[in-house]
This record gives sequence, structure tokens and C-alpha cells, in this order.
Amino acid sequence: MSSKLDIMIAGAGIGGLTAAACLMQAGHRVRLFEQASKLGEVGAGLQISANGFKVMRHIGVDKKLAAAGVKPLSYVFRIAETGEEVNRFELAEAHEAANGAPYYQLHRADLHAALVERVRQLDSNCVTLNAAVSEYEERETRVDLILSDGRRFSGDVLIGADGIKSAIRAQAFGQAPADFTGDVAWRLIIPAARLPKDHIDRVMTVWLGPSSHAVMYYLRNKELVNFVGLKESDTWQDESWTSKGDWSELKSDFSTWHDEVQVVLDAVDKDACYRWALFNRKPIDNWAKGRVALLGDASHPTLPYLAQGAVMAIEDSAVLARCLDEVSDPVEALKLYSAVRAPRAARVVNESSANQKKFRGSIADLRQRFIGAEIGGDRNGWLYGYDPLTVKLSQAEGAQS
Ligand SMILES: Cc1cc2nc3c(=O)[nH]c(=O)nc-3n(C[C@H](O)[C@H](O)[C@H](O)COP(=O)(O)OP(=O)(O)OC[C@H]3O[C@@H](n4cnc5c(N)ncnc54)[C@H](O)[C@@H]3O)c2cc1C
Repeated sequence: MSSKLDIMIAGAGIGGLTAAACLMQAGHRVRLFEQASKLGEVGAGLQISANGFKVMRHIGVDKKLAAAGVKPLSYVFRIAETGEEVNRFELAEAHEAANGAPYYQLHRADLHAALVERVRQLDSNCVTLNAAVSEYEERETRVDLILSDGRRFSGDVLIGADGIKSAIRAQAFGQAPADFTGDVAWRLIIPAARLPKDHIDRVMTVWLGPSSHAVMYYLRNKELVNFVGLKESDTWQDESWTSKGDWSELKSDFSTWHDEVQVVLDAVDKDACYRWALFNRKPIDNWAKGRVALLGDASHPTLPYLAQGAVMAIEDSAVLARCLDEVSDPVEALKLYSAVRAPRAARVVNESSANQKKFRGSIADLRQRFIGAEIGGDRNGWLYGYDPLTVKLSQAEGAQS
């Protein structure tokens, strides 16, 4: 068991907050630096599978999330134009029995709020707002964090959990080159009360369309419906949670789709149709440099085709805390963390990118590909079955996972 450290984290997103909770529970002092002037998350849905939920249980937010989330009964694949169901596999009890924890659909703001509450319970002064990190300086036995307004803080270790445009990553390893995937994601949240009663089932539906596909599911105790519609596109806007698109363009992108979807698209607030251009970044195999390490999207930006980006940040957090507990020299502990996590995250990043291709092709291709196929069965083993709280802390284990 190592001595307790003074740990600084850049970024209070899902990754930074989960890491702070795991590290404080292990007895370390943590200071979180967030650029925003207030804590919060965008209006969007998020799926958290068993491998992430185990950590939520560990830090004691599972009951809160269970109350705020929705457990989907199944994963259902339907042809977008006709509504025909071509495949289905069970989630709910089946997922929990196979993987040791439930699968939840959550509003990002609900997850973020539960994490903030837990972090503040552990230390009410943990988070510093209006604190944009611009760079760091490493000294022999300490690391200094420098904010854009010139303020300077010092600690034993610095964790860069500052997202896809991470300043810490840029300084330590260089920013990752980003290639446009050819997909733009429409993101909508619709109050279920605006839809006919029980308009959609309590399942996660993947709609398969020509040059497009969408995922639709309930959030927040079935009060909200989340729609993420991916459309192939030659042009793109920002990679941003706040970029908007025209409702008329949204309707035209999915104009041939089934009435069940049209009713949902018609019910959205017309000025709340968001678009996110999806970019691919190749994984890197080292996230640790001296007293500095990366976590979450800063180290492994992950496309949403497997719904695992935030879950990987959550897994990182638990493994990071364990490595710092197991190895007394923080530099060696961060090396171990990177060795355990980088191969696992690289596999998820690569499989997420490869998954995009499964949704390409004509309706006939998609029908043939999805009808009766064994979809995602193996994920119960290597993906959802992974337990970051018990996984062996060795490089070889990371490579296998
Ligand atoms: C359309 C879409 C759907 C998705 N669906 C899922 C899903 O279902 N399941 C899933 O697991 N993942 C999903 N993801 C991925 C998930 O959103 C990300 O992987 C996750 O948000 C990463 O969390 P993070 O904390 O690493 O980074 P972020 O959420 O980006 O948080 C970074 C934080 O750092 C702060 N920050 C940035 N720069 C600085 C700085 N210089 N100084 C201080 N603070 C800074 C930011 O303000 C922010 O608070 C999806 C992504 C997209 C685009």
C-alpha cells in the first residue's frame, strides 16, 4: 500500500469526476480544475454498461443512477423504412446475470450531477471552477499546473481528464490527428409526454436506414426520449455538443423513415436539434509521462458506435486508483496504469471505429447482415464482463482484455 498523494486533475467531466471519487475514496487528496464557470453536462443520453456500472456501485452512486435511469429490456434492430424487426437480443436481467452489473440509459446531466454530489461529499472544496489549464511543468519530485490566468498549483501527480482537445495531452504527447468519419450525428431529446402513450417500447432500438442509422431509447424514468441519428455526409460542422442544425434538414435526412420515427422528429423543439461531426483518432499506446497521465477522451477519444467512450473513462478511473494504491512510486504507478489500460482502450477504440462499417450499405445488405445474426454476443465476455475493480494489474492482462 503506497502513501497518500496530492493529486491534481484537469477537467471535471464524467472521467475527471469519477477519478476524483475513486482517488479520494482511496485516501488521496484531490484537486479538480474545471475551465467552465459552473458544473454541468449537455442534454444528451448515455448508455452505461456493466463494466462501468461496477465502478458506480464502488463509489456509491448506483442507487441514485438506478432511480434516474432506465434499464432497457432488449436491443432491437429494425429496418428504418418499414419498421420490420430483424433482430433482438436481451439486456436487462440477461446483461446483469452475464456481467455482474446492470445496463442503464442515463441523461448525461443526471450522471454528472450524481458524480458531483459524491465528489463534494468526499471534499466540498475539491473542485475549482473558472480554472482553464494551459500547461504544466514537471520538477524532480513535484509537478506544477499552470492556469491560463497565470495561477499555479503544485502536486505529486497530474491527471489530464480534459477531453478530446486536451491541453495536457497536447503538451505531453501532441494532439491526435483527427479524420472525419463521413458521419454526422443528430442529437435530440424529446419529452415523452409529447408523444402518444407508450409510443416506443422500453428497449434500445437501432433503426437501419440507407446511408443512415439511428439509436432511440428512453431516459430519466421514461420521461424523455433520446434520439441519435447518424447520417452519412460529405460536409461537416463542428465536433461540438453545442452546434445546432435546421429541423427541416433533420426531417429531410430521415424523410423516408417509418411513422414511429416521424412522430418523434415532429415532437422535438425545432431550435434544439444538435449536430456533432464524428472524427476518428487512432489510439496511442502510452498515456503516462513522468508524474503526468491522461484519462478518458484525453487519452482515447472513442467513436460512439459501441457506446463505450464514457465507460472507458470510468474504467480508467478505477484502475488508476488501484495502481496508485499498489505501487508506492507515483511515476511507476502511472506507467503501470498506462500499461494496463492502453491495450484495453485501444481495442475498444478500434472496434468502435470498425462497427461504423456494419451500418453501411443498401437496405438489402443491412437486412442480410442483421437478420438472425449473432450480434454482440461476445461483448458479454471481453467488453461488458471486464471488472476494473479486480482486473489483474499487469501489462499482459491489459493486452488480453
Ligand atoms: C453522440 C455521442 C454519443 C455518445 N454516447 C456514449 C454512450 O452511450 N456511452 C458512452 O460510454 N460514451 C458515449 N459517448 C462518448 C462520451 O461522451 C465521452 O467518451 C465522454 O464524455 C468522455 O468523458 P471525459 O470526462 O473524458 O471528457 P469530457 O466529457 O469531454 O470532459 C472534459 C472536461 O474537461 C474540461 N476541460 C477541457 N479543457 C480544459 C482545460 N484546458 N482546463 C480545465 N478543464 C478543461 C471540459 O470543460 C469538461 O468538463 C458518446 C459520444 C458522442 C459524441
